[in-house]
Amino acid sequence: MRPTAILSILAACALVAPLAAQPVACPAGGFDITGAHPALAVSLCHAAEEAAAALEACNLPQRSPLTIEVVDEIAHPFGTCLAAYDCAYSRIRLVLREDYSDLVDPDDPYAAMPRDVLHGTLLTHEITHALVEQNTPGREVPLIDHEYIAAAMELDHLPPEWRGAILDYAGLDAPATGRINIWIYRIAPRRFAANAWLHFAAPGHGCDLIGELLAGTVTFEDEPR
Ligand SMILES: [Zn+2]
Repeated sequence: MRPTAILSILAACALVAPLAAQPVACPAGGFDITGAHPALAVSLCHAAEEAAAALEACNLPQRSPLTIEVVDEIAHPFGTCLAAYDCAYSRIRLVLREDYSDLVDPDDPYAAMPRDVLHGTLLTHEITHALVEQNTPGREVPLIDHEYIAAAMELDHLPPEWRGAILDYAGLDAPATGRINIWIYRIAPRRFAANAWLHFAAPGHGCDLIGELLAGTVTFEDEPR
């Protein structure tokens, strides 16, 4: 390759890279987006701020800023996942790509969701984990309670037609407390989430129950299987 060709490639990269890498501060001040091109960052800001407002109305106010990092892949102890929250870094990582076929089963409703709906639902789930941590300083919330709250908030925030698609896929129309266990979460996360939302939506539960789980006066940790 001629030196001038190499130089022009480097120059082209230098023009493109800063645009993608520059962190974008969301308007309300609660989120920074990194690794996304500007138009995507704007839509992620909107989704994150909308999720945070819904969570605030359910005993989960945001107390400190969070970074949302767009990535290609996240390696996780239980396999590759679509999104993750790292409390040590106040960071949410979100896998954004054109093709999710190696991460999501073809019949999973996630596979058919429009991209903005999928991004919004993944963000709501991970922001919930972050806000559970922010609202329980000094207390280690059991994993099952964390996942119940994240799943219930994720489905509650989904457009009803997509929530219905997940309930249909899970084959559930009534909740069972015995299904709120970490094995179902690991083996069949959509079934776990559908059951969690049905349980959350049942009379006497809702945001009051979320508050009790945060306070530690209620837990699913010792539920009989
Ligand atoms: Zn989770």
